Amino acid sequence: MKATAVQYRRPESVDEAFKMADAFSSARFMSGGQSLMPMMNLRLTMNDAVVDISRLPKLRESRESNGQLYVGAGITHAMIEDGKIDDCTAGFMRHVAGGIAYRSVRNRGTIGGSLVQSDPAADWPTALLALDATVVIQSASGERQTPLTDFQVGLMETSLVDGELLQGVLIPVYSSTMRWSYMKFCRKVGEFGHSIAAIVLDTERGFARAVLGAAADKPCILPRVSDALVRGTAQSSGEEKLLAQIEEDLKELTTHDADSYEFHLHRTMVSRAVTEVLRK
Ligand SMILES: Cc1cc2nc3c(=O)[nH]c(=O)nc-3n(C[C@H](O)[C@H](O)[C@H](O)COP(=O)(O)OP(=O)(O)OC[C@H]3O[C@@H](n4cnc5c(N)ncnc54)[C@H](O)[C@@H]3O)c2cc1C
Repeated sequence: MKATAVQYRRPESVDEAFKMADAFSSARFMSGGQSLMPMMNLRLTMNDAVVDISRLPKLRESRESNGQLYVGAGITHAMIEDGKIDDCTAGFMRHVAGGIAYRSVRNRGTIGGSLVQSDPAADWPTALLALDATVVIQSASGERQTPLTDFQVGLMETSLVDGELLQGVLIPVYSSTMRWSYMKFCRKVGEFGHSIAAIVLDTERGFARAVLGAAADKPCILPRVSDALVRGTAQSSGEEKLLAQIEEDLKELTTHDADSYEFHLHRTMVSRAVTEVLRK
């Protein structure tokens, strides 16, 4: 199948992007086009215009200030993989970026496009939730910030409203004690995950977050596992207790039966991630 006829526009600035989008009844911003183009070709989305924001310098900025790393929405997976932005995550972001699809997708696909697409099996929605990121959203009338927990609403759904654009992501700068684990299970290298367990542990900051992706309509924080990590009981209480906590979290957050393949897969990914993060 082919996409319906669309108008193509390429603005020189974010302001111009808003004006161009405003001139159509159903314009869509396009970053890397790696999700939007297949969806248009399959006619899962039909728009009268595409506003190509992939070359806007403002969306390609990255900087560290006030204890936060800002990553522009237009930064590609490949730029992160290649270490072209500062890394306050002890290599976590580079690792995640390098495992997305294959290089040609990573050359064009962006961190912002991935977050707006909000596929629960995609990498950035899970990884950035584990990193406790905040998104920066821009509209013609100004800027607002919202934690990723509020931005991810459901299956391929975010809290962005018409006339808003994702400008970038803010990630806390972690201490030198920061440890992470990222377990992505897929049958073929570069596929979307069938299960993703991401853990960030920073004992100096008293922060721990375990997140499971590809298990529900959006990535979910595992409260008991996170709590056990931050309190140190994941280390001291033994494997049996930890597995019980993982299972309780999974029962609460997913709809899979406890004896299903999926439940077993998610439990395995989370328990491997905990083991790895504690070993580091
Ligand atoms: C073969 C293949 C394999 C893949 N495998 C993986 C994988 O293993 N893991 C993974 O995580 N992803 C995977 N992807 C998806 C890939 O990472 C995409 O790049 C990403 O999901 C979307 O980013 P994009 O920049 O291409 O966004 P686009 O396709 O341009 O846009 C996606 C959506 O976001 C909107 N949008 C884009 N940017 C903005 C913005 N700044 N503000 C507001 N709205 C915006 C668009 O309107 C559209 O609705 C794969 C894609 C392909 C084609």
